[in-house]
Parts: sequence; structure tokens; C-alpha cells
Amino acid sequence: MLISGKEISAAVRAELLERTNKLKEKGRTPGLAVILVGEDPASKVYVNNKEKACFELGFYSEKYLLSENTSEEELLALIDRLNEEDKIHGILVQLPLPSHLNEKKVTERISPVKDVDCFHPVNIGKVLTGEGVFAPCTPAGVMEMLKFSGIDVAGKNAVVIGRSNIVGKPMAMLLLKENATVTICHSKTKDLKEHTSKADILIAAVGRANFVKADMVKEGAVVIDVGINRNEDGKLCGDVDFSEVSGKASYISPVPGGVGPMTITELMKNTLLSAEENLKNF
Ligand code: NAD
Repeated sequence: MLISGKEISAAVRAELLERTNKLKEKGRTPGLAVILVGEDPASKVYVNNKEKACFELGFYSEKYLLSENTSEEELLALIDRLNEEDKIHGILVQLPLPSHLNEKKVTERISPVKDVDCFHPVNIGKVLTGEGVFAPCTPAGVMEMLKFSGIDVAGKNAVVIGRSNIVGKPMAMLLLKENATVTICHSKTKDLKEHTSKADILIAAVGRANFVKADMVKEGAVVIDVGINRNEDGKLCGDVDFSEVSGKASYISPVPGGVGPMTITELMKNTLLSAEENLKNF
């Protein structure tokens, strides 16, 4: 069975639209500010997609396109201003930043109550304790895909390949919260296949084209592909060799049209949540 992020995303957005309209009737419109520094073409596409999603849901949005030479002081001053701005419920700084800007310092300047990317250590800490308002967008998108497909995670062996702060680690925490037995594999894991072939649910977040082959996957496993890569022909592809693995998996998500569309939807969900809760502090 194909898990279509495109379809699930559309269904979730329909629900978000309903909630947004209800909130607007009460006089509050969710507002998202997106900041891009520099000219990175992929980042520009992401920022435009986020603006489009805001427009479609009827959110208020502000887009800041700052020059490559923007100083750290200027960027931090803008974040400070947006932290205080009542119309804005979510602030997102598109990463990666130019090398003269300290990503950690910038990310941590965003107020945790407006940190809709869920990158702030306060929010990551709350993901760990299971009490957070926001969930990191990509892992939350994966959980939504599992839920929507009727896949019960509790008691299953879930294996996550990748341990990054934005995907692998929070993914493992969200699976654990839903009572999966979780294994995290990474670049130093010995005998990766030994672990992956025991997975009832296998999540690939590696960043290598067609890395997961059929002999690494258990018959009937659920396989979710987070990777976004280009193959030798320049075509978009995931971390999972779809042609091989789709014959063995019970459920599989494609790339494109899988996790990708879910990430922005979860960003919109976090922004709406922030507006609904009207958080002042945690
Ligand atoms: P990253 O480079 O920060 O992390 C990659 C992880 O893979 C590391 O933890 C590393 O230990 C592990 N790894 C590398 N080689 C390995 C190997 N041989 N065996 C086992 N593990 C290995 O990347 P990231 O930011 O976590 O992103 C991972 C992928 O997901 C990328 O392709 C990225 O583009 C994609 N991504 C997609 C979305 C989306 O919206 N769909 C969002 C974020 C990231």
C-alpha cells in the first residue's frame, strides 16, 4: 500500500482550514513570519511554498528576504521585534544560514512560544519529556502518515536510520511516546542490516539516494522514506530503493509525494496551535 503524503497532507490541511476559520470568527488570525537570508535556490523554493501554504489556509504571513551580508545583530533585532509582535504566532528562520551567522544563536533567539519549527532546546526538551505543544515538523508528519494509514505503533519494533537533531532523534522520541520499541541507527552502527531487518516500522532519514535495499527490510514492514536526494540522472529520489523495497513492504511512502508535503503541513499546524493557545510563555 502506498502512503501518499500528498493525499494525507490535503486531508490534514482541510481540517486546519476549518480550525483556522473558527479562530478567525473569534477575531484571531494565525500569523507566520518567515525569514530568508541570502540567495540559496532550494531555500527560496521552501520559503515560497510556506508562503503559499499560509495563503491557502488564510493565515497572515510576513516574508523577510534579507541580503547575504545581513549582520547577526540585524537578524537578531528582527527576531526580537517579531517575538514581541502580537500578529505573529510563529517565526521561522530558513536554514542553512550564510556561514558568518551563528545558527544556534539565531535559532535560540526565537521565543520558544513562537518556535513553530520546534528547533529551540526548550521545545526539544519538551519533546523528550512528551509534554510539548509543538512537535518537530518532519517527524510529526511521519507520525501523522502512520496514524492516517491506520498503523498502530504500540509494541512494534521501530528502527530509525539517522540521528540528526531535526529528524532522527525527535523521530525516535515521537515513536517512543506512542509506545514503539525504538532503535536508532547511524553512520557508526555495526551491521545495519541486522537491525533494519527486525523493523516492523523502518524510517530512513540518511540523505543517501536509494540506500535502503530490499535485503535490509523485513517482509511486510512499514517503510517511511524521509530522504530527499538526487540520483545520478538528477532525478529527485529518497533514501529507499523504491523499486526493490515496494515489493517487500506492506506500506511504503514514495519520494516525491511522501514525507515532503507533510512537513509544511505540520509547520502550519504548529502555527495554528500557537495562535489557538495564544501562548505568552511556557
Ligand atoms: P543529516 O545529514 O543531518 O543526518 C543523516 C544521518 O544519517 C546521520 O545521523 C548519520 O549518522 C546517518 N547516516 C549517514 N550515513 C549512514 C550510514 N551509512 N548508515 C547509517 N546511518 C547513516 O541529515 P538530516 O537533516 O537528518 O536529513 C536526512 C534526509 O532527510 C536528507 O535527505 C534530507 O534532505 C531529508 N529531509 C527531508 C525532509 C522532508 O521534509 N521530507 C526534512 C528534513 C530532512
